[in-house]
Amino acid sequence: MTDAVIPPPLSPDELGPDTSPVAYETALDGALAYVTLNRPDYRNAQNSVMTYSLDAAYRKAVDDPAVKVIVLRANGKHFSAGHDIGTPERDFDTYYDNVAALHWDHTDKTGADQRLARETEVYLGMCRRWREIPKPVIAQVHGACIAGGLMLAWSCDFIVASDDAFFSDPVARMGIPGVEYFAHAYVLGPRRAKEILFTGERFTAAQALDWGMVNHVVPRDELDAKVTSIAEQMVQMPMQGLFLSKKAVNICEDQMGMRNAMDSVFGWHHYAHSANAEDGGDSLGGMDAKSMKSSAEKKG
Ligand code: ZN
Repeated sequence: MTDAVIPPPLSPDELGPDTSPVAYETALDGALAYVTLNRPDYRNAQNSVMTYSLDAAYRKAVDDPAVKVIVLRANGKHFSAGHDIGTPERDFDTYYDNVAALHWDHTDKTGADQRLARETEVYLGMCRRWREIPKPVIAQVHGACIAGGLMLAWSCDFIVASDDAFFSDPVARMGIPGVEYFAHAYVLGPRRAKEILFTGERFTAAQALDWGMVNHVVPRDELDAKVTSIAEQMVQMPMQGLFLSKKAVNICEDQMGMRNAMDSVFGWHHYAHSANAEDGGDSLGGMDAKSMKSSAEKKG
């Protein structure tokens, strides 16, 4: 248990333009909802409070009949440094009622049972739930988008990045085959996926554009305007057309095997956590936020 006082997740009614850890506001006469990661002091590292607040923000946008398009963006220098594995507000030992999976509370469990219960809900389950939001969601990415940050961006429908954005999934350093929402081979292609996993190297917004992972790259000071202009076009479309178009492409991705692949890889992911723990270390292979950062710097 951490000593830090961690506030409960925000409910849809509590969300506002300045709320932390997730802010919410609308534009374009209410047709566009901005959902903003707002934990900038920790590079928007995702603890469960942020995850559930983000879910509440998406819930609010889904429930508001005026909202047709959602933009996920971030305050501060970076989009997201990934899952919270080291801030004072890390809340691994806290349970909030499950919304994405019908599974038991992880906090009174141990070992593999605990990890599987938690990650089924807050990582794989949540990202899949968000991918199925019946309104288009655009990821607006700047700065770092690392590991769990990729999961947030990839569960959106498409990505618009600024030219300072960079991406990586370095968790092979923990002996783990990529983050829980294993879309890598689908969004990057198998060979690029292997390269970024095997090296843990950062790739740039320009590379991500070249590989088809992002739709547009623009200078940082043009990012807001670019996303707004795309959203302006999209809100002209009927909600049914947007929803069903999204559904159709998601069905195709699933027919290409993405959902089944994620289920299979999730098993190997948990094998890795357990193998690490069985080796006498912890489930992250002895790595934390600091050691992950310094091994990235040594390499880069
Ligand atoms: Zn995991």
